[in-house]
Amino acid sequence: MPDLIAFIHRRSALMIGGLLLLLVLLVWVSGSLSRQVAFDQLQESGVAELNRYANSLGVTLSRYEFIPELLSTNPLLRDFLQDKRDEQVSQQLNLYLQKMNEVSNTSDIYLLDSLGTTVAASNWHLPTTFIGNNYNFRPYYTQAMEGRRGRYYALGLSSQRRGYYFSYPITDAEDIIGVIVIKISLSDVELQWNSTRLPGQPDLVVTDPQGVVFISTNPQWLYHSMQPLGPVDQQRVRLERRYGDHALGTLNARAGLLPEALKDSPARILVIDEQRRPRSYLVNSLMMEDAGWQVHLLSVTEPVRNQVLTTVIITAALFVIVALLLLFLIERIRYIRNLRQAHDLLESRVISRTADLSKTNQQLLAEVEERQRTEQMLRQTQDELIQAAKLAVMGQMSAGINHELNQPLAAIRSYAENAQKFLQRGREVNTSANLAEIVSLTEHMSKIVAQFKVFARKSSGTLVSVSVNACLNAALNIIAPQLRQQRVQWSVQGSELDLYVLGDMVRLEQVLINLLSNALHAMDGFDTKQLTVSISKLDDKVVITVHDSGKGIDEALIEKIFEPFFTTKDVTQGLGLGLSISHRIIESMQGRMRAENHSQGGAIFRIELQQSQAQEGDQIA
Ligand code: ADP
Repeated sequence: MPDLIAFIHRRSALMIGGLLLLLVLLVWVSGSLSRQVAFDQLQESGVAELNRYANSLGVTLSRYEFIPELLSTNPLLRDFLQDKRDEQVSQQLNLYLQKMNEVSNTSDIYLLDSLGTTVAASNWHLPTTFIGNNYNFRPYYTQAMEGRRGRYYALGLSSQRRGYYFSYPITDAEDIIGVIVIKISLSDVELQWNSTRLPGQPDLVVTDPQGVVFISTNPQWLYHSMQPLGPVDQQRVRLERRYGDHALGTLNARAGLLPEALKDSPARILVIDEQRRPRSYLVNSLMMEDAGWQVHLLSVTEPVRNQVLTTVIITAALFVIVALLLLFLIERIRYIRNLRQAHDLLESRVISRTADLSKTNQQLLAEVEERQRTEQMLRQTQDELIQAAKLAVMGQMSAGINHELNQPLAAIRSYAENAQKFLQRGREVNTSANLAEIVSLTEHMSKIVAQFKVFARKSSGTLVSVSVNACLNAALNIIAPQLRQQRVQWSVQGSELDLYVLGDMVRLEQVLINLLSNALHAMDGFDTKQLTVSISKLDDKVVITVHDSGKGIDEALIEKIFEPFFTTKDVTQGLGLGLSISHRIIESMQGRMRAENHSQGGAIFRIELQQSQAQEGDQIA
C-alpha cells in the first residue's frame, strides 16, 4: 500500500513537473512570438512615419534648393562683386536681398565675396547683420567655390539659430567671384513637428554624419551626440564650427537587444533619461543623402513590453485554466473508473454473497424442515412417553387397584353365594337385598375402572379452562386406595376457592397423580405419613403445592430430579420419567413447576398456572 501511494505521488509530481516545464516553454514561446510581432508592428508604423517626416523635410528643403542658383543669375550680384561696390549699388543689393528674403520666406540671404566675407545681406539693417563676417570655414562656401551647389546646416554664429544653408557660386566667365547663400530656419521645422506631435508618439531626431543631434522633438537631446565623439570627429566639428561654441553633450546611447528578424534595419537603443533611467527605443533611421543628414524615429519600446507581458499573462492564465481542466478531467475519469471498479467489485461481492446467502438459506430451510420433522417425532415420542408414564403409574398402582377391586369382588362373591342359598330356601326378600348389594358393588367397581379409563386416554393437547378441584379430586380418587392402604393422613386446603386454570384436564390430572404417587413413595417406611395439598391464588396465578412428610430430596440432586430417566428407585419402582414429563406438561400450559425441601421436613412440589376466569371446558384461543 505505501508503495502504491509513493507511486501515485511520484506520478503526480512528474505530471506537475511536466506541466510546469510546458508552462515555462509556452510562456517563453508566446513571449518571444508576441515580442517579435509587437516589434514588427512598432517598426512598421515607425518606418511609415519616418518616411512621412523625411518626405516633408525633403520637400521643405527642395523648395529652397534652387533659389541661390536663381539669384546667382542676377547681374546685380556679379556686377557688385566685380568691384563696383559703390554705396548706392550696395544699398540696392541689400534691399534686393531683403526683398527676396521676404518673398522666399527664408531666414537670411547673403552674398560672400571670393574670400568668404559677407558683402551684402538681407539683414543689412540689423545689428546682427552678417555684413563683414567671414564664412570661409563653412563647407557651403568651399563647396560653392568648387563650382558646385553647396548645402550645409549649422547653428548660426551670430543669430544662434539653427539653419540650413544653400549656396551657389557666382561666376564671371570661368572665375568664381563670390557665393550667394540662403539660410532657412530649422527651428520652424522643429516647431511644426512638435505642434503636430501628440504626447507618447515617437520622437523625431536629425543627426549629422558624426551622430550629433541637430533637430529633435526632445529638447534634452539637442546638441548631444549619440555616442561620445572620436578625436577625428571632434576635430572636424571644431573646424566646421557647425555648432559654433556650443558645448556638445553625449546621450551615451547603448545598443539594446532586438529580435533576430529585426537585427538588420532598425536598431534598439537605451538612452538615459532626465531621471537617470535607461529608456529603451526602437530606432528607424533614414539617410537623406541630399540633405547630408540622417533622420531617426525613436519609438519607446514600453508598449512592446506591456504587450508581451499581457500576452504572457493571458497565455499563462489560459494554460493554467486548461491544465486545471485537464487535471480535473483526468481526476474525474480516474474517479469514475475507480467508482466503476468499486461498483463492479461490490456487485461481484453481492452476487457471491447472495449465492452464499441463498445457499445458507437453503441449508436453513432444510434444517428447519429437519427440525420440524424432529419436533414432530419428539412430540410423538413425548406423547408416547406420557402414555408410557401413565401406564407405568397404572402398573405401580396395580396392587392398589387389585386390592380395590378384590374387596368388592369378594363381597359380590359372598353376596352371590348367600343369594343362591336364600333362593334355595325361598327367601326372596333376602335374595333381592343381596342382589341389590351386588348391583351397588358392581357400580362402585365400574366407577373405579372408569377413572382409570379416563386417566389412560390421550389428551387433545388444546388449552382450556380447567377446574383445579375437579382435577385434584380425580387424581385423589385414583390414588385414594393406596393412600388408605398406607394409612396416609391427607388433607386438601383451598378447594373452597374453586379456582380455574388454563390447561389440559387430563394432563394436569396426570401431573397431580405423579406428584401424589411420588409423595407416597417418599413416605414409604415412615410411621407418620402426612400429605397436604393446597390450592391458592397469587396475582393472576393459581398455585398448587403437594407437601409430604417423607425423606425429602437430597439437596445435591434437587436440580437433577426433572431430568429424564433420573431416578433413585429401582427398575421395578420407577423409570425416572414422571417429573420430567410433568415439568414439560406444566411448561406447555405456560406454567412453572419447582421442587424444594420443606423447612419442617419432607419435599414440597409447587405448580404455578395461569388463572382462568372462564367456565370449565371453555376453550381458550
Ligand atoms: P421415579 O418416580 O420413576 O423415580 P420421578 O421423575 O417421578 O421418577 O422422580 C424422580 C426422583 O425424584 C425420584 O426417584 C426421587 O428420588 C425423587 N423424588 C420425587 N418425588 C419426591 C418426593 N416427594 N420426596 C423425595 N424425593 C422425591
